[in-house]
Amino acid sequence: MIPSILPTYARAPLTFVKGQGSWLIEADGRRFLDLGAGIAVNALGHAHPALTEALTTQAQTLWHTSNLYNIPQQQALADKLVDASFADTVFFTNSGTEACELAVKMARKHFASADQPERVDIIAFEGSFHGRSSAGIAAAGSEKMTAGFGPLLPGFIHLPWNDHDAVAASITDTTAAILIEPVQGEGGIRPLPDQCLKGLRDLCDENGLLLIFDEVQCGMGRTGKLFAHEWAGVEPDIMMVAKGIGGGFPLGAVLATEHAATGMGPGTHGSTYGGNPLACAVGCAVMDHVADADFLAGVNRIAGQLRQGLEGLVASHPDVFESVRGSGLMLGLKCKAPNTDVLNAAYDAQLITVPAADNVIRLLPPLNISEDEVTEALKRLDQAAIQVAST
Ligand SMILES: *Cc1c(COP(=O)(O)O)cnc(C)c1O
Repeated sequence: MIPSILPTYARAPLTFVKGQGSWLIEADGRRFLDLGAGIAVNALGHAHPALTEALTTQAQTLWHTSNLYNIPQQQALADKLVDASFADTVFFTNSGTEACELAVKMARKHFASADQPERVDIIAFEGSFHGRSSAGIAAAGSEKMTAGFGPLLPGFIHLPWNDHDAVAASITDTTAAILIEPVQGEGGIRPLPDQCLKGLRDLCDENGLLLIFDEVQCGMGRTGKLFAHEWAGVEPDIMMVAKGIGGGFPLGAVLATEHAATGMGPGTHGSTYGGNPLACAVGCAVMDHVADADFLAGVNRIAGQLRQGLEGLVASHPDVFESVRGSGLMLGLKCKAPNTDVLNAAYDAQLITVPAADNVIRLLPPLNISEDEVTEALKRLDQAAIQVAST
């Protein structure tokens, strides 16, 4: 008999009932150190007082009106994002997937409204992840996500990751945009080298294309800059954000330049919930913390400690781990042993990590994790590696 929850998830046998900072408490009372943060969502950990305050205050005032009316919290958050980024304008969604939908629509509309309606194709990359909608799975193109869900949305071209010549060779009169994650998340924490991001920007400029960054996972301070592309000094025309921006409240956004957004006038797109008062009140509180230079300096400091510790673990457990990769607090441990064995041994040590493709486990702690907690996490990961090595 089919379970009452559609069985699309392979869940771990864990039930968390409470969260405090970097810790999750299981129904049986065990305390788990959380280096998953709900897959890079709980940017400020669990039950952060400023976020709880923003949410409860707004909840006592007004939950929802409609995008038929002005929403002051949405305006405030849009202004913060525009001030802190390349963008001139923002559209709010409830998720990363919906941000992907709009990014694709916006790119096509840009060219349609510029009398180039033939420009519809979007170049995307193998190993990428852009969400589970029809556009999202067509964009990422992996068989695992698309099998049985055809016919797929046309107009996506998939190229090997990190191959500049292949991109250059695939650009035609029908190309509209290049879509890429500056750091692949689901694909196994693969940061695109800075010169590749620069190369993509140059190709877009030379050919009049739009560059779309998917920073749903790597954005919002995760890599130690507010947005990952800042490390390369390269700006997109359109950017998708979600996960960390709501700190646990469902919220996403598309940020764009005025140029890219030409065509997106009244009636061209919309959302019932996108940017509602509850979500944006929390989003403002997240931005006030994460966009702060001292906060980001702290992320980089703690990321250095975690990375160094992980390098040490790779050195002391060469049969279990192969290498460390990633950026800031978006780190991946490429495993030699099956990554699910490491994941399960970490659960036994009451440490939460997240699996990814390419036999990687992801370490995505809250951005405000403390030095002591990182030390404790490394100790538990060492314990997990000993357990894996002995079986
Ligand atoms: C999680 C993710 C998405 C999809 O976001 P949802 O909120 O799950 O819809 C898209 N792109 C990237 C890079 C992601 O990590």
